[in-house]
Parts: sequence; structure tokens; C-alpha cells
Amino acid sequence: MTDPAHDHIAIVGGGPAGLMAAEVLARGGHAVVVYEAKPSVARKFLRAGIGGLNITHGEEYELFCTRYGNRQASLQAMLDHFPPSTLRAWVESLGVTTFAGSSGRVFPEGMKAAPLLRAWVQRLRGLGVQFQLRHRWLGWDEDEALIFNTPTGELQTRPRATVLALGGGSWPQLGSDGAWAPWLQAKGVGVAPLKSANCGFDAAWSEHLRQHHAGAHLKSVALRFTDMHGHTDLRRGELIISRYGVEGSLIYAYSRQLRESIEAKGSATFTLDLLPDRSAAQVLAAVQHPRGARSLSSHLKGRLNISGVKAALLWETLGKEAGADPARLAGAIKALPITVTATRPLNEAISTAGGVRFEDADERLMLKALPGVFVAGEMLDWEAPTGGYLLTACLAQGVWAGAGVHDWLRLGG
Ligand SMILES: Cc1cc2nc3c(=O)[nH]c(=O)nc-3n(C[C@H](O)[C@H](O)[C@H](O)COP(=O)(O)OP(=O)(O)OC[C@H]3O[C@@H](n4cnc5c(N)ncnc54)[C@H](O)[C@@H]3O)c2cc1C
Repeated sequence: MTDPAHDHIAIVGGGPAGLMAAEVLARGGHAVVVYEAKPSVARKFLRAGIGGLNITHGEEYELFCTRYGNRQASLQAMLDHFPPSTLRAWVESLGVTTFAGSSGRVFPEGMKAAPLLRAWVQRLRGLGVQFQLRHRWLGWDEDEALIFNTPTGELQTRPRATVLALGGGSWPQLGSDGAWAPWLQAKGVGVAPLKSANCGFDAAWSEHLRQHHAGAHLKSVALRFTDMHGHTDLRRGELIISRYGVEGSLIYAYSRQLRESIEAKGSATFTLDLLPDRSAAQVLAAVQHPRGARSLSSHLKGRLNISGVKAALLWETLGKEAGADPARLAGAIKALPITVTATRPLNEAISTAGGVRFEDADERLMLKALPGVFVAGEMLDWEAPTGGYLLTACLAQGVWAGAGVHDWLRLGG
């Protein structure tokens, strides 16, 4: 089946990046069709709203931009064009107010994605954007037409321009499965291997720790890690001991550095300060304090409030015999070494590192090997921690790619 309408712009992938490109192009007066594999658009965006949709971050803009690490330079122009303040104004233009939490993270009122998405899709329809759902893109045919698998058979279409916004490879049940990578590589587009970002890590826990403490939260701890480049970072937060290792926001914040170390050395070791509010001297004094007939466990619980998962992790790492050495015990409470050996698989990760290399796209995000084909969002080779940085960059790239298509067509395509 061949699509008769060839004067449209195809947006392939209806996540935040694709929908934003659709909005920019529809406002520019173009006929826009969004092709989406799933029966509805933006499933990952909706899922992100379940734990509270952290849409951007309110910290100082210069600091904000550094969160994109070694991809900051590639993204800078897009972020400058659509910075967090503009993003918030855009959310508010959809009738949803935003607020910054105490950590600086910015959320839509109610914290959910659904009201925002409903208003957005309604606006897009009002701008004339068409949605072709259950249309799975399969690559190009020999005439360079896009091929889609649809409920009524295969569809070929040759749009004036294409924006690919297919997402990464995490949580594939929500639609983005990374299947596009070999199709682009076959066309000469460089794609860095897709890897887990903002993910958990494997650690070799004992059966005892697994059975008794999997799922436990380690609150108010501080993690210190020295990365491959010798840079040491210390952050406070919360992590979760899982059956296979460690999870949680504090771990996600270090996921790039830990992953890179594992790739280079086979493992990565960070230290946990179990009592960041107490100095090493205070901890040593408490450990050394005479305990009379009390067991060491109840002494640590009474003097330092170390019990439950904190105590279990301490004994797991040190061995019970370390109890006889107060200096060693106190040192471990302030810097408990934890070794991780692998990232959790990509399908479990919050986001994806790797993807289409920026060098293979021009300054408008058009693929150098495929004139007229633009890329945006998580399918590009960048990563960022959680905190609203992912959605901000996806939306900024959607704006940029949409404007890029508009310019390219204006200049004759
Ligand atoms: C549990 C969870 C919570 C998150 N929370 C946050 C948060 O609070 N803040 C934040 O900033 N980020 C968060 N993220 C990350 C954020 O959701 C993603 O970075 C963002 O959705 C990526 O946008 P995208 O448009 O690039 O890709 P996606 O949202 O993945 O959209 C890609 C779309 O393309 C479609 N598609 C894929 N392949 C094809 C094909 N072959 N044919 C047609 N369509 C196709 C998919 O079905 C999908 O709809 C979270 C992610 C997860 C998993």
C-alpha cells in the first residue's frame, strides 16, 4: 500500500521529542503526520509521571548545562534555544502550572503527565497534526520510502522530510526498543552502542543479605566515588539494596562514572558514609565507648543508631571479626567499600546512553548520510542524570529538529 499524501512531514515516534518537533512544524504551516508504533503516544512520558513527572530543574542555568557532561557542547545551542524557563512557560501555555520542589526539581502541578499530555495532543490536533497509531516503522525500501507495518498491512510513504524520534532502548514495553540502530548503521550512520544509564548495578551479596534485606532503603547516606579521570565526587542521598545489588537515585546519579569504570576495569568500588552527620572522631569515640555487657550490635544501635540494613551491610563487608578492632569498624562506618560488577540490563534502565553520534548529524540535527532525515531525543548519543534533565534535552532537541526541518525546506530542501 502506498500512501498518496507525499506533501507531509513524517515524525516517526510519538514521544516528547517527536511531539515537540510536530508542534514546531505544524505551527510553521506544514502538514505533519506522527507515526507511532504503539496504540497511543508518549507511553514512557506517561510512565515517567507515575513517580512524579520531573520535567526540568530550577538550578542555576550554567550548572544545569553541566549535567550533560561531555555532551554539553553538542546540546548547548538547543538548550539555549529552549532553556528550563522556556520549557516551564511552554507547560504553562498548556494550562498546567509548574512548581519547583525543595531540591530544585520542577514538576507540573499534580505531578502527573496525563493532564499535560491530554492538553498537548488536543493542541496538536487543533494545529492539524495527524496521528497514525499502530504504525511501526521498519526502515526504508529500495526507493528510500519509509515502510510501516500497520493493522491493514504494509504502508510506504515518501514524506518531504522525516524526523526520527524513536527513543532509546530502555523499558521496551513502552515502545522504544532500539530496533532502529542497525537500520541506520546500514545507511552509514554512526550509532554508539546503546547502554544502560540511570540504572542499578550488580553486587555479589550473600544469600543472608538478599533474603533479609533486599528492598531495604539506605537513607541519608553519602556516596563517594573517584571516576576514571581521577575526579572524586561526594553526594548524599538514598539507595536501595536489591536482590542483585544496588538501585535508587543516589546510584543513578553515578551511573555513567560507575559504568565507565566497569567497562575499563571489570568492577567499580565506591564508599558509603553510613553516618554523614557525624565526624570520624565522633564515630570512633562512640564505637570505643565502654559497652559493658551489651553486645556490639546493641551498642552500635544505641550509640550510633546503626541497625537493620546498615548493620547487615557493615558486617557483610567487614566480617564479624572486625568488631574487635574499633578503629577499623569506625573507619568502615564512615567509608564502607561496595564493589559493583555490571550495570543492570538496558531494558530495566531509566534511560539509554549511546545512540546516533552527533558527528553524524549536522548543526540542524539532519543526518549527513540521509539528507531530509532528522533525529531528536534519547536516540542520540548523550546521557544525563535524573532530575528533569532527560525530558528537557528531549524537548529542546524536538524544538531544534522541527526548526531544522523548517529551515531546510525553506532553503529548498
Ligand atoms: C520509569 C521512568 C521514569 C522516568 N522519569 C523521568 C522524569 O521524571 N524526568 C525526566 O526528565 N525523564 C524521565 N524519564 C526519561 C524520559 O521519559 C525519556 O528520556 C523520554 O521519554 C525520551 O523521549 P523520546 O521522545 O526521545 O523517546 P520516547 O519517549 O521513548 O518515545 C519514542 C517513541 O517512539 C516510538 N517508537 C519506537 N520505535 C518505533 C518504530 N519503529 N516505529 C514507530 N514508533 C516507534 C515509541 O513507541 C515511543 O512512543 C523516565 C523514564 C522512565 C522509564
